[in-house]
Amino acid sequence: MKNMLVIKDIASMKKWCRKAKEEGKIIGFVPTMGALHEGHLSLIRKARKDCDVVVVSIFVNPTQFGPGEDFERYPRNLSQDIILCEKEGVDFVFAPSSKDMYPEGYSTWVEVSGKLTQILEGAHRPGHFRGVTTVVTKLFNIVDPHYSYFGEKDYQQALVVKRMVEDLNMDTQIVVMPTVRERDGLACSSRNSYLTGEKREAARILYKSLVEAKKMIENGEKDASRILSALENFIKKEPLARIDYITLADPKTLEPVKKIKGEVVVALAVKIGDVRLIDNMRIKL
Ligand code: AMP
Repeated sequence: MKNMLVIKDIASMKKWCRKAKEEGKIIGFVPTMGALHEGHLSLIRKARKDCDVVVVSIFVNPTQFGPGEDFERYPRNLSQDIILCEKEGVDFVFAPSSKDMYPEGYSTWVEVSGKLTQILEGAHRPGHFRGVTTVVTKLFNIVDPHYSYFGEKDYQQALVVKRMVEDLNMDTQIVVMPTVRERDGLACSSRNSYLTGEKREAARILYKSLVEAKKMIENGEKDASRILSALENFIKKEPLARIDYITLADPKTLEPVKKIKGEVVVALAVKIGDVRLIDNMRIKL
C-alpha cells in the first residue's frame, strides 16, 4: 500500500486530485473538522469501499461559527487524526490553514436561501450554513470528488449541501450515512469531549427523547403537538438540559408537521450546561 500523504497546501491538493482523475481513478471525499471519532470513521470506511482514492479534509472552518460559539475551544488533534486516517487506508489528508482558505481580501460566499437554511440550526446559528456551504464549495473545487460523504447526524446540513449541489450543478454525488452512536445511544460528536462528569450522563437525554418519540408514534400517536409536549416534559426532568429547539418535521423540507403520516424526522438541539448538542431520528409509520 502507498503511504498516506498529509497535504496542507491547496495547490498541491488540487494537483494530486487532478492527477488521480486523469488516471481514471474514482475520488471519494470526506470533509470533517477533525477530532475524528467513529462517526467520521464510518464515512471514511464507506468511501474506502466505494472509491479508488480517499481524501479526508480536516479543517475547523471559522466561517461556520458565530460570535460567542466554540471556535477557539473546538477540539483539535491533527496528529491523532492522521494516525486514525492512516489506519483506515486514507490516501490524502488535506489540512489547509485558515489563512490559505480565507486570505486577506476574501469576499465570496455561497448561500442556499429560503426556509431550509433559516429554520432550526439556521435560526439558532445565523450565518452557520453560509459558512458551511462556502467551505464545502471551496473544498469541492479543490478535490473535485466523484462522491462526497456526509453524516445524517447533521441532518439539516446534509439537506442544505444536497440542495446546493443540485442548484449549482456540481459534479459530485452526495452520500449520506447513518448516525453512529456510543453504546448508550449518545450520537458520536467531537463536541462530546466537552461532556465531563455529570454532563455526560445528562447528555443521554437526547437519544432517550428520540426513542420516546419513536415509541409514541409506534403506539399510534399522530398528533405532533402532543408528542412535542411529552418530549419537552421528558427533557425538563433532566436538570442540566435546556431545549434550543425540538421539532417533528418533514424529512425532505424540515417543515414542521401537524399530523404524523408516512415518515417524519424528529430533530432537536439541547444544551447540556454550556454544551450544545444536536441529534435526530427518522421514524417511519
Ligand atoms: P464534523 O467534523 O462534525 O464537521 O463532521 C464531519 C462529517 O461527519 C459530517 O458530515 C457529519 O455529519 C459527520 N458526522 C459527525 N458525527 C457523526 C456521527 N455520529 N455519525 C455519522 N456521521 C457523523
